[in-house]
Amino acid sequence: MSSGLVWFRRDLRITDNPAWAAATANHDAVLPLFVIDPRLWEATMPHRRAQLAGNLQALDQRIVRLGGRLKVLTGDPSEIVPEQSTGHQTVYWNDDVSPFARRRDERVKESMRTEVETYYGSLVHAPGRIVTNEGAPYRVFTPFWRNWAAKAWEPWPEAGSAAIVDDPGDGVPKPEREPYLTPGEDGARERLHGFDVEAYESNRDRPDRRGTSMLSVDLKFGTIGPRTVIRLLDGPTAAPYIRQLAWRDFYAHLLAAFPDMTTANLRSEYDGIAWRNDPDEYEAWTQGQTGYPLIDAGMRQLTETGWMHNRVRMVTASFLVKDLLIDWRWGERHFRKLLLDADPAQNSGNWQWVAGTGSDAAPYFRVFNPITQSRKFDPDGNYLRRFVPELASLPNHLIHAPWEAGGTQLAEYGIALGKTYPAPLVDHAVAREEVIAAYKAARTRSDPQADPQRRHE
Ligand SMILES: Cc1cc2nc3c(=O)[nH]c(=O)nc-3n(C[C@H](O)[C@H](O)[C@H](O)COP(=O)(O)OP(=O)(O)OC[C@H]3O[C@@H](n4cnc5c(N)ncnc54)[C@H](O)[C@@H]3O)c2cc1C
Repeated sequence: MSSGLVWFRRDLRITDNPAWAAATANHDAVLPLFVIDPRLWEATMPHRRAQLAGNLQALDQRIVRLGGRLKVLTGDPSEIVPEQSTGHQTVYWNDDVSPFARRRDERVKESMRTEVETYYGSLVHAPGRIVTNEGAPYRVFTPFWRNWAAKAWEPWPEAGSAAIVDDPGDGVPKPEREPYLTPGEDGARERLHGFDVEAYESNRDRPDRRGTSMLSVDLKFGTIGPRTVIRLLDGPTAAPYIRQLAWRDFYAHLLAAFPDMTTANLRSEYDGIAWRNDPDEYEAWTQGQTGYPLIDAGMRQLTETGWMHNRVRMVTASFLVKDLLIDWRWGERHFRKLLLDADPAQNSGNWQWVAGTGSDAAPYFRVFNPITQSRKFDPDGNYLRRFVPELASLPNHLIHAPWEAGGTQLAEYGIALGKTYPAPLVDHAVAREEVIAAYKAARTRSDPQADPQRRHE
């Protein structure tokens, strides 16, 4: 009797999972394994642990319906996976581009004799498939996207009917709290079906509306595959949405090609930026106490829920880097710690985009105005009132920039700046001039010819 082991990681689903499909097709019996790595588990914030535990429970329930159990063990995967592989012909998993995962997977491979078969089930196209005519990774999104959209999908195996091993191991840990999102494949399907793809273009930038799919958490944990999302949504009206999924692949392909992207500027001409890096201002940003209502709403939403709307992620990130002149890596670390969908490729790719240090990034002189953004994308202040309740009594024309009203007028609403709500940490107009000067100075100082480190441009 032949048997295979499937090591689940960021692919917590049965449907459209190539590693699972290959194992169940190639063997008579399959052992489904998940290893809780204490290094990751303990570094993870309660929101994300609860989501992970919920997703593992849901996966286990799916496997129970197939007659087996998800075996959950705690420890170092580079020891546990080789130990568990004894007696199996092949170990299967879905690859991950993060440098941490790649190093770990190499150690696992080195420590066992069992054959390994891997897929890229969390991406539409595997890294290395979408390359320029010269075979190089794309550094600019639009040509990547055209090639990505035109290229046929590499076929994935069809699932078979192997018997599933019935051994729960230590069992799934109990979530400390209710997961923020309904977990598992069922939760992902609910989100997909409850989302209005036709209204995406008009609603996607509105944090006060449920205008986006909220599938990034599912894509991060793999409770749905990106190919399934495309198959279920495809059609002319889905094009803008599917383009966003191409961004996800783009950043994963970039990280696969440039593993230092989580810490090093992709454009080395910005290596010399004289960051101000004021720890008190950083603290005020993390706590949602900057005095700019949209920034504070976003940062509090992140702390309270583990989630933040994309438009608000862009504006809060820009505020940290451009208004406070704090190194994007500080913000990247904070988001990585708290986001439910935290993903090294997506997070560092987007942070570098906002900071202007990425390979296809916003130009350095583009500085989001936190007040204009607030008025435009949360015109009735509903998002602000939800996360900054101390400003809830203010009328719409004052809530986005309360300091524009005088102290007497604010007092009518029970607000005293500096007491009930912070005064603005910086003057946006002044900060904008300063940051542009700092970026310009870094560019002037950098001399591409003299810089052997000039990395990816
Ligand atoms: C500073 C910053 C940090 C970010 N960090 C992360 C992160 O750690 N993990 C993460 O998944 N996304 C990250 N994003 C991208 C984006 O904000 C989220 O993917 C999006 O908000 C998820 O919500 P949604 O699923 O409702 O998106 P939708 O608008 O419904 O988009 C559908 C899917 O497309 C993909 N997508 C959308 N926008 C982007 C984007 N800008 N970059 C890459 N993929 C995208 C996501 O997988 C998303 O689920 C970050 C953005 C910024 C500006």
